[in-house]
Amino acid sequence: MKYRAAAPAIDGIRITMESALTARDRVGVQDFVLLENYTSEAAFIENLRKRFKENLIYTYIGSVLVSVNPYKELEIYSKQHMERYRGVSFYEVSPHIYAIADNSYRSLRTERKDQCILISGESGAGKTEASKKILQYYAVTCPASEQVETVKDRLLQSNPVLEAFGNAKTLRNDNSSRFGKYMDVQFDYKGAPVGGHILNYLLEKSRVVHQNHGERNFHIFYQLLEGGEEDLLRRLGLERNAQNYQYLVKGQCARVSSINDKSEWKIVRKALSVINFNDDDVEELLSIVASVLHLGNVQFAKDEQGNAQVTTENQIKYLARLLSVDSTVLRESLIHKKIIAKGEELNSPLNQEQAAYARDALAKAIYGRTFSWLVRKINKSLSYKGADMHSLGNASVIGLLDIYGFEVFQHNSFEQFCINYCNEKLQQLFIELTLKSEQEEYESEGIAWEPVQYFNNKIICDLVEEKYKGIISILDEECLRPGEATDWTFLEKLEDTVKNHPHFVTHKLGDQKTRKCLGREEFRLLHYAGEVNYSVKGFLDKNNDLLFRNLKEVMCNSGNPIVHQCFDRSELTDKKRPETAATQFKNSLAQLMEILMSKEPSYVRCIKPNDAKQAARFDEVLIRHQVKYLGLIENVRVRRAGFAYRRKYEIFLQRYKSLCPETWPNWDGRAMDGVAVLVKSLGYKPEEYKMGRTKIFIRFPKTLFATEDALEV
Ligand code: ATP
Ligand code: MG
Repeated sequence: MKYRAAAPAIDGIRITMESALTARDRVGVQDFVLLENYTSEAAFIENLRKRFKENLIYTYIGSVLVSVNPYKELEIYSKQHMERYRGVSFYEVSPHIYAIADNSYRSLRTERKDQCILISGESGAGKTEASKKILQYYAVTCPASEQVETVKDRLLQSNPVLEAFGNAKTLRNDNSSRFGKYMDVQFDYKGAPVGGHILNYLLEKSRVVHQNHGERNFHIFYQLLEGGEEDLLRRLGLERNAQNYQYLVKGQCARVSSINDKSEWKIVRKALSVINFNDDDVEELLSIVASVLHLGNVQFAKDEQGNAQVTTENQIKYLARLLSVDSTVLRESLIHKKIIAKGEELNSPLNQEQAAYARDALAKAIYGRTFSWLVRKINKSLSYKGADMHSLGNASVIGLLDIYGFEVFQHNSFEQFCINYCNEKLQQLFIELTLKSEQEEYESEGIAWEPVQYFNNKIICDLVEEKYKGIISILDEECLRPGEATDWTFLEKLEDTVKNHPHFVTHKLGDQKTRKCLGREEFRLLHYAGEVNYSVKGFLDKNNDLLFRNLKEVMCNSGNPIVHQCFDRSELTDKKRPETAATQFKNSLAQLMEILMSKEPSYVRCIKPNDAKQAARFDEVLIRHQVKYLGLIENVRVRRAGFAYRRKYEIFLQRYKSLCPETWPNWDGRAMDGVAVLVKSLGYKPEEYKMGRTKIFIRFPKTLFATEDALEV
């Protein structure tokens, strides 16, 4: 009699009539390392395609999860599904995001080591959805108590709020995260989630004042206009029609069929109360949202001297009320620039263009700082407040990283430069950690292995961040020469300093072919994920991120408590030059890398199947590109460098013990000895496997398949 383990190995499909072999033909292998032709990109993609067709969107590379966005709701996220993965070993059930979540949780519990789950992939690949599914998994499966339920609620409800303020419709994704997010979930000694903490990275502020065609501003603006109650809108001086607001019409697509702003508004409104916003907080917050819209409608004309004059007095009136500032001071600050010359303060008038620039800078500053304030406020409501401080001593965390994916548009600017630099850093971490941990496993198990060649993108990270010679350093240097430096002098300096770098080229430095597709105002970086041309236009300005002093002063005097907290008086007296945007970002990324390095990582690599956001469409060219730049084939090769498959002796024995009379039904001795007897009886040849300290390592997939198939006979 053959004993069949309760959970089948091949994707939850109970194999009765169908042999394991034909099932594999149909649904592919659930771990890429089991591919016979594991170095072949075509075989990799074919496996992905087979599985995608069967709605099997998840596949492993060892412990890395590859996920393809299905662009449709799948029935695989129910409570029953969660239960199926709870406390179950990775390989006993089909690949799933819940398996990754559960595995990290169990490692946290048993090994007491902090974990992190790094989710990567390009815009629209499904990172944010994956991170939400992981949170939901913990909310449902982790131990409960009344207090814990509140924390779980808050952890979950922080999402709709942050998405309302930080996500927007782009050409790539109708709900694109325009900020980076790292969230720690803290667990107590019983394994219950007791708190959380969010770090936010570089919000794409420029979206507040400008959107490309087919894109929108942040969701919250449309939600408020669509869903806000009549008297709320009246208090905020808003009309329901988004077309009336300059900051909302640039992309010409206020309405999107996939987005219901009205119902989202209700969700956000409710979520705000769950995360401890009282009515006053909400009113103050929405006053700021409304003030940004009013600010966008402030217009200027020029007087006889060519100086700017405000022509929209009504807007100033609303702004003064919403931001609780003096209307005359605000009006004058929008059209003047305060300069200090020879110890004397002078108010120099601005022209129309400069005034519009100052207005937009103010809108971006208000929104950007309010977003950071929002994160701080959410963190307060998530912070662990247990009376029992002992449990905090044991608290350990699982960090979730959902950060903007690699991005290439027709026109790429400072924002894309930062986003793509961030992806270089994460790729670097992936290379270091996957290779390192793989090597460590072989070492700790006492197994010899052969190293694999791979592209190390450190050279690109250095190009961007190196002291003195790196692009950010050069940019900062130019920002220190106000009045003299321009975006063009920045480009020239780049050309001088990094001219022979293999990953950098400009129109001037390039050959004829390069010149054809590179503008004079652009530089090109050869990222690990592909080439991107960046236009230097706006680089200095965005990096400086300056707000005229008199506007800062007005905001510091605001009677709106949130604005008041966002604009600190010390900024006015502080003589030290504030850090530039790129340097701030570089430093916060360096901190993030440290945080991640201190934890045990798991990886989710998200793939976008097509650019049309459509279900069941597998665009091979697009997918091949992602497979390539995510380094997935290299990942398989590293994983296979020695052995395709490894399993703890106990698990291996449990699964296959029915195949050998000596181990069936029970083996009394050590699991390792049982496995030795078992594989001998199965006829494994010495070159086919190795016995490590705690695991058996099997070199070829076919050995394992033969054993699997034997179970079916
Ligand atoms: P960005 O970098 O732009 O923030 P992202 O990787 O976070 O992109 P998501 O917002 O997670 O992308 O996913 C984009 C859309 O794809 C979702 O709004 C949803 O419609 C769909 N989607 C993603 N993952 C899944 C899934 N597992 N099941 C069903 N639909 C999904
Ligand atoms: Mg996202």
